[in-house]
Amino acid sequence: MTFELDETHDPTLRSWVESANGHADFPIQNLPLGVFSAGGVKRGGVAIGDQILDLLALAESGLLDGEAHDAALAGSGHSLNPLLAGGSGPRRALRRRISALLSDNSLREAVGWMLHPAADCQMLLPARIGDYTDFYVGIHHATNVGKLFRPDNPLLPNYKHVPIGYHGRASSVVASGAPIRRPLGQLKAPDRDQPTFEPSRRLDYELELGAWIGPGNALGEPVDISRAADQLAGLCLLNDWSARDIQAWEYQPLGPFLAKNFATTVSPWIVTAEALAPFRQAQAPRPPGDPSPLPYLLDAQDQAKGAFAVTLEVFIETERMRQEGLAPTRISRGSAQHMYWTIAQLIAHHTASGCNLRPGDLLGTGTLSAPTLDGFGSLLEITQGGANRLSLPSGETRTFLEDGDAVTIAGRLEAQGFVGIGFGACVGAIFPAGQS
Ligand code: CA
Repeated sequence: MTFELDETHDPTLRSWVESANGHADFPIQNLPLGVFSAGGVKRGGVAIGDQILDLLALAESGLLDGEAHDAALAGSGHSLNPLLAGGSGPRRALRRRISALLSDNSLREAVGWMLHPAADCQMLLPARIGDYTDFYVGIHHATNVGKLFRPDNPLLPNYKHVPIGYHGRASSVVASGAPIRRPLGQLKAPDRDQPTFEPSRRLDYELELGAWIGPGNALGEPVDISRAADQLAGLCLLNDWSARDIQAWEYQPLGPFLAKNFATTVSPWIVTAEALAPFRQAQAPRPPGDPSPLPYLLDAQDQAKGAFAVTLEVFIETERMRQEGLAPTRISRGSAQHMYWTIAQLIAHHTASGCNLRPGDLLGTGTLSAPTLDGFGSLLEITQGGANRLSLPSGETRTFLEDGDAVTIAGRLEAQGFVGIGFGACVGAIFPAGQS
């Protein structure tokens, strides 16, 4: 059961991996799953402080048995899909065993050799992503963007009834750190009569959460809202890079296409549904007058526990800031409480037609903006479509991203009485369209 708390969430639990104690992202209460490369070998791992526990070595060590051993083996390959397919049971068994191993001082030598310094490893995508879908659940983002086009009527009539989404591009999802090439595309500048083909001039980021799918469902068999949480393997941070000028010209009538298919960056660690349990909270009540979700999207437990206490931040660092030794500057701070739909509602809706989700599929929430400027989740909103310039500590200004700019998304989960956890880095830097 994914909502359940156990000894792995104990706030007094400490690890003999010293860097884990007090670690902002990866204390022993987190234990996220990922795939890393060390010495050219790709395999599954678990983050603990500034180290990575090697699941291949662990599976072969003789320290595990039963379900935990099978789970480690399923997570020891080039992708975590086999482990994700097993659902919560194997994940939880593995988590409990690893938590015990990493907190037992007497096992420091028996387990220590299976650790790799994260700084010496390359993080890869945690799963082979068969399909990627991006939603639009950030109601303040939808309102802000709608206002740019329809000042008096920003939200379309369907918004509060149906979770809006589109099928995105899985092949261009990349792990944090991968460079992002400015896309070329067809766009129509306001001062031109005809479209041109050129590098995007209005390149933007979108602050989102990503949801990794666990077991999946058979084609033709929708996931009931009461069981939808069982499909969530875990969360990550997601940056849906967006070329606003290409988007504006191409999006009607079928929605985003090349404006968003050139790159999507994710944080490479899956913060598991088990690690998330303490940070579940009630879905924010809908404002008076808003429609109730249709019955296939409404579940009492989901409404009581289906939201997550995540704080989200975006930082930007320009080439000049890097040269001058200036730290990345925070340009927004918000939270996931502004999601109009829960992750479970997205899963129930996605499959309501009979569409099958598969292990390792990725869902994006859509841009998560706060109601106020200091928490807007894209430059499109911060600069009001490029009308206002954003000032940076280097004296530079931005409307949209320039070559050399790096965007970092950070996220943190906190709850009273528990040790806070984070996602690790979700960063990408822009390089010019003409370069490779
Ligand atoms: Ca998006």
